Amino acid sequence: MVAIPWDRMPVISEVFSADGPLARALDGFAPRAEQLLMAQAVGEAMAQRTQLVVEAGTGTGKTFAYLIPALLSGGRVVISTGTRTLQDQLFHRDLPLLSRSLGRPVKVALLKGRANYLCRHRLQLARAPVALPGFGRGFEGALAKIERWALQTTSGDISELETVPESEAIWGLVTSTRDNCLGQACPEFRDCHLVAARREAQAAQLVIVNHHLLLADLTLKEEGFGELLPGADAVVLDEAHQFPDIAAQFFGLSFAARAVQALTRDGLAELSRAGLLDASGRAELARLDEAVALPTQLLMGLPERIASEDLPAAFAECLADISRALEAVAARLDDENLEIAAVRAVGRRASELALRLDEWQQLSDEEGLRFVENSRGFVLRFTPFEVATRLKAHVLARPCAWIHTSATLAVGTDFTHYTERVGAQEALTLQIASPFDYERNAKLYLPKGLPEPSARGYTAAVLEAALPVIRAAGGRAFLLFTSHRALSEAAQYLAQTRRSDDDFPVLVQGEAPRDALLRRFRELGNAVLLATGSFWEGVDVRGSALSVVVIDKLPFVPPDDPLLKARLEALRREGKNGFMAYQLPQAVLALKQGVGRLIRATDDTGVIVLADPRLRSKGYGRAFIASLPSMPATQDLAEIQRFLQERVVPLPQRTQPS
Ligand code: SF4
Repeated sequence: MVAIPWDRMPVISEVFSADGPLARALDGFAPRAEQLLMAQAVGEAMAQRTQLVVEAGTGTGKTFAYLIPALLSGGRVVISTGTRTLQDQLFHRDLPLLSRSLGRPVKVALLKGRANYLCRHRLQLARAPVALPGFGRGFEGALAKIERWALQTTSGDISELETVPESEAIWGLVTSTRDNCLGQACPEFRDCHLVAARREAQAAQLVIVNHHLLLADLTLKEEGFGELLPGADAVVLDEAHQFPDIAAQFFGLSFAARAVQALTRDGLAELSRAGLLDASGRAELARLDEAVALPTQLLMGLPERIASEDLPAAFAECLADISRALEAVAARLDDENLEIAAVRAVGRRASELALRLDEWQQLSDEEGLRFVENSRGFVLRFTPFEVATRLKAHVLARPCAWIHTSATLAVGTDFTHYTERVGAQEALTLQIASPFDYERNAKLYLPKGLPEPSARGYTAAVLEAALPVIRAAGGRAFLLFTSHRALSEAAQYLAQTRRSDDDFPVLVQGEAPRDALLRRFRELGNAVLLATGSFWEGVDVRGSALSVVVIDKLPFVPPDDPLLKARLEALRREGKNGFMAYQLPQAVLALKQGVGRLIRATDDTGVIVLADPRLRSKGYGRAFIASLPSMPATQDLAEIQRFLQERVVPLPQRTQPS
């Protein structure tokens, strides 16, 4: 596709003006200087094919600020996001709306990861005439539903089948992985949903992918990829703050127990389908299954992340057993006398897994960390300390514009932490403050007298300090914790200290899936939600249902995390101060995400409670405060209660502040 020369394009400022096409087409559209500034910078970067890193505060309207220049350019643009929610929003809502308002029909494709598409070949395998380990009750019913849906779906996108939730284990059986896809040797290749989705993406002007797919394409790591970027005029990375960690994973190596279990299942199914399953084949696959079960038992009760040097001595022998069992399966199935391609493909997978296992054991600790993830089956991982050089080489090899954007990329006004991690040191940077009136609509409460976060009873002290604020708001609060332990302590504390006039419902992460909890929170209007992890970012609750955000501690990665320890050691060897160069900026960016949950719309009002006393007692506390939107801070509880009383929409049955 040939891009329209930039000087002949409609002027971006006209599109965003008070009487422009957006104002005519969108209810409630109001020109925002911040949005226009970002759109013009993105347009310029697209025209000049340069790299731009933009931090756009909440409310800038950053998606429109890159979608409009992308649409106007007429060029081919790849947009990569960190989450499925944003992918869906861009594809189903924002792009149709914008292309209608501009009167520019545009071919858009949404490409999800493999795991989101039904694999027609594996669906047939799931009906293999042999019992597959790991699938018991409920399996038959779900499989029948999938089979009925498979007859009528045209996209194969598993989210279409709402009666079988995407979290169900059965989807793992009927979707493909890079390891088990037969590629062009597949009998279903012509009708494959994944192949069709990729073809559509290649033909589209605007393609929406996620960071994993973008990296696969960038590094040509997967067959069928390497086809999106070559023709692209621009790449936009939204939610770019997630990109460095995903890239580190991507340039690393992993070996999952689950992949071996899936291989034994596929071996059983393919052999039985081909009529080749005899007693010795069955025994060999069972031996492999046992070999992988043993180290799982060995790691029981150990931490969720274990550095390779801290593994039990017997673990290495277990790995050698798995290796031998994999080689035996490979020798049996990848036999040139066997004419069934699908059986031989399982054999090849076994040798590839054996190689990967061997590689993990040989990798150098100088370049990265070898560790084991120990939750629901183990995963051996190697994460390189540095990916910037490789990323930079890939980016430079593609002469198109690269736009990185997120609400959290800078520490204070400094982008170095991000740009150095992704090898974009030469990129232009732009910081756009949130247009929301934090000075008027928000307050920062720093409670007095809290003990050090390491003290016993710290979580109870946080709750004690936060409860008068929560009561003044009539509930309507997020309580964000830095650990699961603190989360469950807080849930217990709240249950035990609940007063008869505390009429706010309490929701706790884990009681229901994330989206269901958030839906309930919005519907209730006066709930208190206790959460950690994924609730710190990407959650959008507008209006008075969320009027208080309490954060228990500064979100430093726990010091015993092996990945953190290894990164700090790598930085020390480079002569850098690991705390200043890595730990502090990471924590600042995480805090910005958490705080960003409160004010989501122009008339949102509320209070941030930052309980951690280190904000005032330590010198580095200033770096956190300086990175937050500027808002009045106080230690005076009465002032906070008054503010909530006056500014938060009163509930009819409102509890008076104590
Ligand atoms: S090509 Fe791969 S994903 Fe497509 S049907 Fe065959 S095995 Fe499944």
